[in-house]
Amino acid sequence: MQRCDLAIIGAGPAGMAAAAEAARHGLSVTLLDEQNRPGGQIYREVDRAGGPRGAILGQEYLHGATLTAGLGQAGITHLSGAIVWAIEDGLRISFIRGGRGEQLEAARVILATGALERPMPLPGWTLPGVMTAGAAQILLKQSGVLPRRAVLAGCGPLLYLIAAQMVRAGTPPLALVETQTAASPLAASRHLPGALRGWRYLAKGLKMLAEIKRAGVPRYTGATDIAVAGSTRAEAVTFRSKGQAHRIACDTVLLHHGVVPNTQTARSINVPHVWSEAQQCFVPETGSWGETAKNGVLIAGDGAGISGAMAAEYAGRIAALKAAEELGRITAQERDRLASPLFSRRSRETAVRPFLDAAYPPYAGAVRPADSTIVCRCEEVTAGDIRSYAKLGCLGPNQAKAFGRAGMGPCQGRYCGLTVTALLAEANGQTPDETGYYRIRPPIKPVTLGELAAMEDPSATAAE
Ligand SMILES: Cc1cc2nc3c(=O)[nH]c(=O)nc-3n(C[C@H](O)[C@H](O)[C@H](O)COP(=O)(O)OP(=O)(O)OC[C@H]3O[C@@H](n4cnc5c(N)ncnc54)[C@H](O)[C@@H]3O)c2cc1C
Repeated sequence: MQRCDLAIIGAGPAGMAAAAEAARHGLSVTLLDEQNRPGGQIYREVDRAGGPRGAILGQEYLHGATLTAGLGQAGITHLSGAIVWAIEDGLRISFIRGGRGEQLEAARVILATGALERPMPLPGWTLPGVMTAGAAQILLKQSGVLPRRAVLAGCGPLLYLIAAQMVRAGTPPLALVETQTAASPLAASRHLPGALRGWRYLAKGLKMLAEIKRAGVPRYTGATDIAVAGSTRAEAVTFRSKGQAHRIACDTVLLHHGVVPNTQTARSINVPHVWSEAQQCFVPETGSWGETAKNGVLIAGDGAGISGAMAAEYAGRIAALKAAEELGRITAQERDRLASPLFSRRSRETAVRPFLDAAYPPYAGAVRPADSTIVCRCEEVTAGDIRSYAKLGCLGPNQAKAFGRAGMGPCQGRYCGLTVTALLAEANGQTPDETGYYRIRPPIKPVTLGELAAMEDPSATAAE
C-alpha cells in the first residue's frame, strides 16, 4: 500500500498549484488524474502545445505550462492515467492505473476534480454529429482537429472562447445560436460594479466577440425551440429567434450552456451539498480554506463552485496551506501570512462571476426539456418518463432509479442528474434542495472485474 501526506485528485490548475505549494512545505504529495498528462480541462496537453496550436489556444492557455513545470519538484509523485473510483474512511483511495487496481492511503485529501459541462438535453441531442462544445475543444487541444460546418448553440463565455479558437484555426462556426435573452443583461447589470473589478474578463469577452464578428460568423440571440434535425445523423439546427423560425444546415452541432461542479467524488463520501441559485447547480459545502464536514478532506477549484482557472489555482494553494498547517509543517501564523495575498487575489478573480452567471443563465428549454427528449442517455429515459414518475408519487432522483433506472448507467448520473432534479422539483412543487440528487456510491467510474482482481491485497502488504 502506497502512503503519502497529501493525495490530490485532479491535475488541473487547482490540483497542480496545491501539489507545488504542499511540496514546498515538505509534504509528500501524490497527484492522481485520469488524464495521461497534467493540465486539467483548461490546460489539457499544454506541454505539447507549441507552434500553431498554442497560438490558436491563446496566451492564457499557455500559462498552464508554469504549473506543469512545478510538478517536477521533489516530493511530488504524479500518477497520470489514474482513475479514482472510491475513497474510504481512513482516507484510502482506490484507483485503476494501467488496467490494474491500486490503493493509496493519505493523511489529507484535496479533491480538485473540476467541472463538467452542464448537460443540454434537447430534441435530437443524441444524434451522431452532436457533441458538447468542450468535447470539440478537447479534440483541438489533444489532436489539433476541429469540425467543419459546425453550429455552436447555447450560451456563456466558453461558447465565445471556442468560437474564437475555431476562427483562429481557420474553421469558423457557421453560426452562433445563443440562448441568453434581452432580460439576461438586465439581470446582470446589477452585478456590474463587482464585474468592473474583473474588467480583464470583460475586455477579453469583447475582444472575442470582435474576432467572431470580423470573421463574419452570424449570431442569433434569444434562441428558443432549439432542436437538431436529421434522420440518422445531425443535418441541421432549427430554432426561433426574434419571432422568426430558422434552419441552418450543418454537419456538426456543438452544445454548451455553462459548466457545473463535478461533485461525484465529494458526494460519494457524503460531503453535504446545497443548491446554488446563482449558478443553478449543487455545490459542496466548504469553508474558506476548502475544508469540508468530512475529516481530512478539502475541496479546491471548480469542484467547489465555478470560479475559473485562476481562482482555482489560488484555491489549490490555499487548501494546501491548510493541509500543511494541520499536519504540523507550518504554524497557523505562517499559514495565514502566506494565504492572505492568495485570498485577495482569489476574491479579485471571482468578482466577475455573479455578472457572468446572471448574463448567461442556462437555456430553459434544456433545463426542463420537452417530454419526448431523452434525459438519461445511458438508460434512454425521457423527460416525459420522469414527469410520469412524479405523477405516481416519485419525490426524488433516488426513487426515480427504482421507477426507470435513470442515473444507473455508466455515467452514474453525470449527464442527467441536474435535469432529473429540475424535472421532479417542478412537477412536485419543491425546491432543488428538497428534491435532492442521486446518492452517489463507489465505483464512481466504471471498473472491470479484471482490474479489481489484479489489485494487490492490502492486508498482505500490511503483514509484510
Ligand atoms: C470541457 C471543458 C473545457 C474547458 N475549457 C476551458 C478553457 O478553454 N478556458 C477556460 O478558462 N476554462 C475552461 N473550462 C473551465 C475550466 O475547466 C475551469 O475553470 C478550470 O480548469 C478549473 O480548474 P480545476 O483545477 O478546478 O479543474 P479541472 O481543470 O477541470 O481539472 C480537474 C481534473 O480532475 C480530473 N478528475 C476528475 N475526476 C477524477 C477521478 N475520479 N479520477 C481521476 N481524475 C479525475 C480530471 O481528469 C481533470 O483533469 C473548461 C471546462 C470544461 C468542462
